[in-house]
Amino acid sequence: MLGCVIHGQGDLRVEELPVPVPGPGQALVAVRYGGVCGSDLHYWLHGGVGDFRLREPMVLGHEVVGTVVSYGSPTPSGPAAGTAVAVHPATPCQVCPECADGRRNVCRDTRYLGSAARFPHVQGGFAAQVVVPADQLRPLPVGLGLRRAALAEPLSVALHAVRRAGDLAGRHVLVTGAGPIGCLVVAAAKAAGAGRVTATDLLPTALEYARIAGADTLVRADDPYGAGWPSEVDVAIEASGVAAGLDTCLRLVRRGGVVVQLGMLPAGRSPFAGNLVVSREIELRGAFRFDTEFDGALELLAAEVAFDGLVSAVVPVREAEAAFRLAADRSSSCKVLLDFGD
Ligand code: ZN
Repeated sequence: MLGCVIHGQGDLRVEELPVPVPGPGQALVAVRYGGVCGSDLHYWLHGGVGDFRLREPMVLGHEVVGTVVSYGSPTPSGPAAGTAVAVHPATPCQVCPECADGRRNVCRDTRYLGSAARFPHVQGGFAAQVVVPADQLRPLPVGLGLRRAALAEPLSVALHAVRRAGDLAGRHVLVTGAGPIGCLVVAAAKAAGAGRVTATDLLPTALEYARIAGADTLVRADDPYGAGWPSEVDVAIEASGVAAGLDTCLRLVRRGGVVVQLGMLPAGRSPFAGNLVVSREIELRGAFRFDTEFDGALELLAAEVAFDGLVSAVVPVREAEAAFRLAADRSSSCKVLLDFGD
């Protein structure tokens, strides 16, 4: 079977891999689609993401949907063979202080598909067949096909960021960065009842995807403040992963407002207007991955056809490097899926 392995910066290979065998409590899943995430691109382009560095070859991918093939023995409970499923990519430890505190998304000992956060790295889901814990399988709700369901993982990230922002009902929400995650934050904010969502990006193409996701106002990030920008917003969610985006959020959020940093900033330190946090009593909150939001994401995807418009390309796994190039070119793509079928 074919898998998509990152060997180091710029060294992405489609390789023949052995079909894994499920053990106790595990399921074997035939992967159909895998969404290319910004973090997959970071491993490819930079050899790491945020402060996590590649130290050994790793199968990429954590946005994975497919069908159940079989289970290990003794057979755990789970969807029947042949059932279409999405895979929750996180296996929190369940015993650390964060897990005990109900914040399993920041578990200090979690295993996350296709992540170099721990060593040995956790191998990912960009392979024709993958073994995962059976309790991480989620059958798709009625009406949701595998293609749209491939957005469940990044939409969960967006739903978590929105949850971290607090009550958005009737609020004006700014989203800086209209890549796939930013667009899904726009959709999640609207679903949470935001009164108005303003999305910013440097690229007109990205802003068009934000419009598909439901943004009310689109602003070119390189326009000077004043021209098309809101004078202030109630909540700002930073989804660009650059310090300039955080700076914009801090300058535009109202006094006492909330800023959520969701985008992974470059490794090391990032400059930001810290005194605004003090003098305006801004609440600056991080958002990392997600936990139970996965189930809500599947329900939201089943209910909303517009999400189809955010999948901009589906590319056979043999052309994975072309898919990565396309996903990295935000002037011509939003979410790119690898197709492992047939
Ligand atoms: Zn834990």
